[in-house]
Amino acid sequence: MAKHIEPGPFAYFEGDYVPIEKANVSILTHSFNYGTALFEGIRGYHCPDTNNVLIFRLKEHVDRLVRNFAILCMNVPETRADIERICVELVKRSGFREGVYLRPIGYKCERSLGPKVHDVASSFCCWIMKLGDYVDIDSGLDVVVSSWRRLSDNAIPSRAKAVGGYVNSSLASSEAKQAGFDEAIFLREDGSVSEGSAMNLFIVQDGTLITPPPTADILLGITRNTVMELASKELGIPVVERSIARTELYVCDEVFFTGTGAQVAPVRSVDRRKIGNGEPGPISKKLQDLYFQVVQGKVAKYAHWCTPVY
Ligand code: PMP
Repeated sequence: MAKHIEPGPFAYFEGDYVPIEKANVSILTHSFNYGTALFEGIRGYHCPDTNNVLIFRLKEHVDRLVRNFAILCMNVPETRADIERICVELVKRSGFREGVYLRPIGYKCERSLGPKVHDVASSFCCWIMKLGDYVDIDSGLDVVVSSWRRLSDNAIPSRAKAVGGYVNSSLASSEAKQAGFDEAIFLREDGSVSEGSAMNLFIVQDGTLITPPPTADILLGITRNTVMELASKELGIPVVERSIARTELYVCDEVFFTGTGAQVAPVRSVDRRKIGNGEPGPISKKLQDLYFQVVQGKVAKYAHWCTPVY
């Protein structure tokens, strides 16, 4: 679902905190012309008991971003510690005491001609907005297998979370929504299941959680990792990473998506075939419940995943 961005009052831009109106790049910028940027999406959850905002798995998001810099040969002056600090500071400066979304971006900031990744100067910026639920997480989504194939790792690696790669996501998302569905499922060039436009996919079959492996042209989602850990360690649900065939989606017991934006979003139909009884399945719901407990800092064992802002 495209949401209009109502940004917070400040952004981090060119080494400083600036009013959001001042955080602008030129049309000459390399990343604007060639898609040579990569980004993260991080949520902060409001905890009503303490009136604090808890940033979920900040360290893991920043670690993924900085590792991905290598794919685009990006050297930014900010360290992992700096980026973590900037995220916390932006929430603080905005004064938000509700759900927030942070968007750190590494981008090729030079004004130079020619598509390449080496020897082009990079910069780091970050903006923030308020964010509640991004997709319907209660009634179950109606989804469709896309006619667009997922980008392969040898074309534009999904794992990089590269800006240019989101053309692929945009095409699939629009196709699905214009046809009246809520979301798309990408297949890979070999026909196996990959992921959604901006979310990972799980199926449940006979009590086992199954999700495509890291080599299935997916982004290695942090919510994916969270759900896998909670399923196996807290709920005793076996988790298997393996290739999934398209028709497994039609005959399995449950399907759900995971993602920072999507959170844990049950699916009720795929290609107009009802999944289970056409309602969010029991395992999807259990994982969703536990996920929301964890992100609000209510499960002591996972409190280290929540960074308090205030
Ligand atoms: N796949 C894609 C293509 C995405 O854009 C996202 C959203 N970041 C995800 C999966 C889910 O990843 P995460 O759980 O880390 O947000």
